[in-house]
Amino acid sequence: TCVNRAKQCPGEAVSVVKLPANLETDTTHRYGPNSFKIHGLPHPRPGCVLGLLGTNGIGKSTALKILSGTLKPNLGNFLSPAEWQEIVTYYRGSDLQNYFTRVLENQLKVAVKPQLDAAFQRRLRGKKVKDMIKHRDERNKMDEICASLDLMHLMERDVGKLSGGELQRFVVACTLVKDADVYMFDEATSFLDVKQRLQVTEAIRALCEKNMWEGGEQAAMSKYVVVVEHDLAILDYMSDFVQCLYGSPGAYGVVTKRSNVRNGINQFLAGYIEQENMRFRNHALTFKVAATDFFVNDEVGGELEEGQQQAAVVGKMGTIRYPAMSKTYSTVGKGEEAKPDSKPGSSFTLNIEAGDFRDGEVIALMGENGCGKTTFMELLAGNTKDQRGKESTIGSNADGADADTANPSLASLGVSYKTQNNNPKHRRFEGTVRDLLEETINSSLSDRLFRLLVVRALQVEELEDLKVSSLSGGEMQRLAITICLGTPASVYLIDEPSAGLDCEQRVIAAKVMKRWIVNHMGKTCFLVEHDFVMATAMADRVIVYEGIPGVECTATAPRNVNEGFNNFLKRLDVTFRRDPINFRPRINKKNSRKDQEQKAAGCYFLFD
Ligand code: ADP
Ligand code: ADP
Ligand code: MG
Ligand code: MG
Repeated sequence: TCVNRAKQCPGEAVSVVKLPANLETDTTHRYGPNSFKIHGLPHPRPGCVLGLLGTNGIGKSTALKILSGTLKPNLGNFLSPAEWQEIVTYYRGSDLQNYFTRVLENQLKVAVKPQLDAAFQRRLRGKKVKDMIKHRDERNKMDEICASLDLMHLMERDVGKLSGGELQRFVVACTLVKDADVYMFDEATSFLDVKQRLQVTEAIRALCEKNMWEGGEQAAMSKYVVVVEHDLAILDYMSDFVQCLYGSPGAYGVVTKRSNVRNGINQFLAGYIEQENMRFRNHALTFKVAATDFFVNDEVGGELEEGQQQAAVVGKMGTIRYPAMSKTYSTVGKGEEAKPDSKPGSSFTLNIEAGDFRDGEVIALMGENGCGKTTFMELLAGNTKDQRGKESTIGSNADGADADTANPSLASLGVSYKTQNNNPKHRRFEGTVRDLLEETINSSLSDRLFRLLVVRALQVEELEDLKVSSLSGGEMQRLAITICLGTPASVYLIDEPSAGLDCEQRVIAAKVMKRWIVNHMGKTCFLVEHDFVMATAMADRVIVYEGIPGVECTATAPRNVNEGFNNFLKRLDVTFRRDPINFRPRINKKNSRKDQEQKAAGCYFLFD
């Protein structure tokens, strides 16, 4: 079905510019006639973490299945597939010869963290977290690993009742406790906050550390680790080497040669593989959205006509202040990220410092899971009430006139809200994507700029004939962002837009949101985002959460980016620098010279 879907999309904006010559012959696997095929494979190296980078539907999971020995590659001949012996011969002279020889002789034990979906969790209903991990605990490291992944307070829970982030850490733990030769992690950080992403990264990297194994250095140096990851900062930090996959989603994927992490990621973003002199995307993915960037000739900009090449007049309505607010939930009932110290029946309190926001800015909310980011959004949207009584007014002091107008929330200003789990009514919608768009944002659809800069850029155009109920998580997310942006408002509230999106779509989505809300509409956006690359690409100011998640937290007033991100990273004890080529943030290795220098100088986030 995916093949047909790929064919019907003219919107392969991310078009393939030129195919390498060997695509007809050097096929590694083809699922069937006119089905997806993959060219090349990842070449894992013992003692190292190999990162895989590529858009959705390009063959990453397929490649992992082949390396894990569960899918025997047919070398393109699905009618009379090759025997394993032939496959070993085929890879003679490469790293994979030895690898597949051992697969063939059953000498490689493989542990896989699969990509998560709803069905996965459903199958595990009624099973206890502790029992499932214990059952796999071949390294006798269960307690250590569970503690490092912040799972100890969840041991007695039913797996079926875990939140997305809890389930992710649980499955990662189930994989890490096994005693295997090959470890594979297919998207291990979705639903996690930044701190948890770093914890998972450390835990995976520890597989290649000598003090983690009885056999010491020799054992550690024999482990193969392969990760598929869409968070570029995390992929960068986690991997020793990178291989990219490019091609045409649903049709074919090509695996590039192994390269060092920095070059690999930069080449992917540039859309150009230097060693192979191969351009696979006709525009580079960049992070900076400057005011002047609005009509740059990138993904869609080139299609704008002369007359349209002028930025929208940004009408400044001045500064809106909101008062200090607080919210207490009497019981931590939702189960989401309740911490050890929050016993059932206790309460969660969120305190919000008074703050303000202006037209044309993005304010990022940075904090751990369970610290009240969504609660803040709900307060702003007017879906839940502040408990400070009459103090709780949000007034405009634009030109003095409205200064004391009592607004119980921002709702009266016009709010468009993309909720964290997306609108369940939309998810249950029975018609096609086009029907839903017409029902929700019909007037925006006739706006040519909206179609170009949002609908087409987010590749929602190619989904229009599909049933909403058939959409994947990432497709639903792009649709939800489109509906949010297409709803006219003064304030846009966007909760975790990157969930389900691949690395490429994240960069594009960040740009689309900023370009539309800030540059075009001149409005304000509150954003919750754990992908640090995306958050820093979009944020103009930052609200940082402090306190104990699930118990009591405080949201600071919006601060400027340097101060805000600096404060956020200081709490995590991580430093970032920027890549000089494309300005993407990169995590400094712990205790590296840069890390120590930046910490000494108090510069956790080197902005320029
Ligand atoms: P990724 O992990 O990069 O998102 P996958 O490896 O899961 O991509 O899938 C690549 C393509 O192969 C998709 O178009 C998918 O529909 C197709 N595909 C995956 N498994 C099968 C299968 N068993 N039979 C036919 N096509 C498949
Ligand atoms: P975040 O978005 O930062 O992950 P949330 O705002 O969703 O955090 O939740 C903050 C805390 O409040 C969590 O401990 C959560 O369990 C609790 N909580 C959220 N909504 C409710 C609710 N409706 N009833 C009870 N507790 C809730
Ligand atoms: Mg996959
Ligand atoms: Mg939330």
